[in-house]
Amino acid sequence: MVSLSCEDNIPLRPDLMISLLQTVTVGLIVLDIDGNVIFANKQFEDLLGYSADDIIGLSHMRAVSILVGKTSYDEIKENLQKTFHGEKIAKKRKFTHKNGQIVPLEVQSYPFFDKDNKIAGSLLILRDLHGDLMAEITNLVNSTLSLKEVLDNTVKAVVENLGLESTAVFLLNEEKKELDLICCNAFKTEEDLAKVKWKVGEGPPGKIVQTRAPVYVRNLRTCLDLPEFVRQFHGDKSSVGFPLICKDELLGVIAFDADTVRDFSDKEMLSFKNIASQVALAIYNARLFSKLEYLSNTDGLTGLFNHRRFQELLKEHVSHAQKDQCSFGILMLDVDYFKSFNDRFGHLLGDQLLQELAEVIIKNVRSCDIVARYGGEEFAVILPNCTKEVAVTIAQRIRMAVEESNFCSNTKAAGKITVSIGAAMYPDEKNKRELLLKADKALYLAKELGRNRIEVYAG
Ligand code: GH3
Ligand code: MG
Ligand code: MG
Repeated sequence: MVSLSCEDNIPLRPDLMISLLQTVTVGLIVLDIDGNVIFANKQFEDLLGYSADDIIGLSHMRAVSILVGKTSYDEIKENLQKTFHGEKIAKKRKFTHKNGQIVPLEVQSYPFFDKDNKIAGSLLILRDLHGDLMAEITNLVNSTLSLKEVLDNTVKAVVENLGLESTAVFLLNEEKKELDLICCNAFKTEEDLAKVKWKVGEGPPGKIVQTRAPVYVRNLRTCLDLPEFVRQFHGDKSSVGFPLICKDELLGVIAFDADTVRDFSDKEMLSFKNIASQVALAIYNARLFSKLEYLSNTDGLTGLFNHRRFQELLKEHVSHAQKDQCSFGILMLDVDYFKSFNDRFGHLLGDQLLQELAEVIIKNVRSCDIVARYGGEEFAVILPNCTKEVAVTIAQRIRMAVEESNFCSNTKAAGKITVSIGAAMYPDEKNKRELLLKADKALYLAKELGRNRIEVYAG
């Protein structure tokens, strides 16, 4: 509750009250009970470029029509009535600066009371939304949400708080030298998003990639650099695009579209620049995370899943198979006499052979099968949803393909190798440990029985 009447209250004399209202960090307008402006503070002047004298004495309606422009008089009247009935109201509105630029602000209106506790007028608090928006975006970027969710929520917050028509984020596809639209509040489906692509150097987004500088388009409808469907889709409105750069790496472009043809204020441009750097950080972090995830799951030599990831995947397969009551198999595969290959040709060619062997295995399993490098020259395969017979068929296919392949054919080591394979089946073996133990036992049996063969563990 705000009281401007403080005759009985020594510390809050009216002159002191006025000084106080000048020190707050929000814009203030005070209306008397007839709805006429009786006061506006310094921050109001800073926010909207009008002096207090420009609006003091004006009716609420007149002031609103100057400050907000075309608006719903009924709504304003209703809000004022509500305030005079003691209600607090908060709304986001696009104000017009004295210089014609758009300033999105939150307006809160409170009633204030005289010394008899009767409503004496209304206090309008005007709050700049840029700070709130930046805090919201920073929180989003540092949240645990997926990149897609961060971008969707950021775009929504930008459009709502900055009074824009639309915002779009394009990601640069380095290989194709192309910008792909990945998020835009104006397009609802993935299909629509997929329609919009820009070659580097083409159209305003493509130019931003080349120049790494913002590009302002006065009117999207008449911009001949844009394809016809984009011009028609947007109609008459201005747009500005910023490069998304993080650690000197250009990651994409973000475009901010107004709902009319207009200039963007310095303040808006500064906000766009800050939003662009936050969005770039979100994209950079998401890429870094998926790179780290890839590295922690992948064997550096062969590109297959590594031992750590294999253990996780096997555990998952055991629980799925338990739940769905289905069977699956695992294969453990070891190169025969690999030590002597290394001794003859050296470890570098041994490494090349392991890479080529990984490719042979991948080519001879089903697309649903999971191939990992278990260790040194040992590989492991998970065969989901399969019977013992299918497991043996796949193992035979791998064994024969290896036997027939010419490894290191471009080198002096060119030649043949063979592999031995041990297999174990779920649910014959009930858990991960048993599966690994039994497949290993079967593998050793295959070695003992002469190598280049397959053994299935049978209890
Ligand atoms: P077998 O399995 O038929 O009993 O004989 P083997 O000679 O293959 O014996 P073992 O499986 O014990 O030998 C493993 C050898 O694999 C030892 C090492 O020289 C080689 N090796 C393991 N990891 C790598 C690797 O990353 N690169 C290379 N070049 N060689 C490796
Ligand atoms: Mg071995
Ligand atoms: Mg071996």
